[in-house]
Amino acid sequence: LAYARYVTSRKPSASDRTRETGELALVRQLRERIGLGIQRSADIRLGIGDDCALLRPGDGEELAVTTDLSIANRHFRLDWHPPESVGHRTLARGLSDLAAMGARPLAAFLSLGLPRELAAPRRRGTPSWMSRFLDGLLALAAVHSTPLAGGDLAESPLAVADILLIGAVPRGRALLRSGARPGDLVYVTGSVGGAAAALERLKGLSAPLKGRPKSLAAHLHPQPRVAQGLWLQRRGLASAAIDLSDGLSTDLGHICEESEVAAEIDETALPVHSGASLEQALHGGEDYELLFAARPSARMPRSIAGVPITKMGRILKRRAGQPAVTITSAQGRRPLRPQGWEHFS
Ligand SMILES: [Mg+2]
Repeated sequence: LAYARYVTSRKPSASDRTRETGELALVRQLRERIGLGIQRSADIRLGIGDDCALLRPGDGEELAVTTDLSIANRHFRLDWHPPESVGHRTLARGLSDLAAMGARPLAAFLSLGLPRELAAPRRRGTPSWMSRFLDGLLALAAVHSTPLAGGDLAESPLAVADILLIGAVPRGRALLRSGARPGDLVYVTGSVGGAAAALERLKGLSAPLKGRPKSLAAHLHPQPRVAQGLWLQRRGLASAAIDLSDGLSTDLGHICEESEVAAEIDETALPVHSGASLEQALHGGEDYELLFAARPSARMPRSIAGVPITKMGRILKRRAGQPAVTITSAQGRRPLRPQGWEHFS
């Protein structure tokens, strides 16, 4: 909590206020903006202002913890992504992991490494890249009542944002990847392929983006399914769950791997996002929908908290030498190899 240490001991002087850069001023800017969220949260006993934050989960709860690293030119591009979108996506990745466990978000911690020119305003009176990044991150944090309770800030040759999310879930009740059994049905929230389709459109733009075009929202502002994950966890309806970050073919493979089962999906039942191709729906990542299995006897609603739920496949017994995931269509049945996102490949 490096930025906590700078801000606790003294009141800002007039000269601090007029200096636009420098760690002290940046730290104050951060703290002023995130303090409100912390005051409203009952789960945080102590936020920024000491060496550590103190969290107080409820009785009978266990903590779900996840980190996600976002690196310039790898997860976002300064020339493609508006800073608000980078902030939003940074937090969305972590919230989506909590959603996949059915955990209630308690707090987020952000470590930012930024080149000097991104931390300071380009011209006096205009917001810096960092400030706009925080606009995006804090707007999504407010939607999901997730206070930013600490972090770190450093000058870096490359823009890097690492988010740590802590959630709470009733002991022993988290949604896992490992609970799917043969005979279970496979469901997905929302639609798939929209983020990959929007990214293709974003890459094709000749001029920098203006405003918040709706046609790119699935990529620039994906909505983590926190309410849906919580709903499933509270009712004990899902036998296994994962969030779609790497792509359907890869993520369903993860459920099969951890549950030691196979899965079959029905191509005609797939909720392909409008404007997306089948390829993008099967292998494009970053949709941040929930993919889950449930017993055939589970009564699944058509929608959860306003988001449609689609049954699109089933869990099968795993057989040696057979592909874990297959897809059926009018043409018959074919293996669905994982072709989603993979680092170091
Ligand atoms: Mg995940």
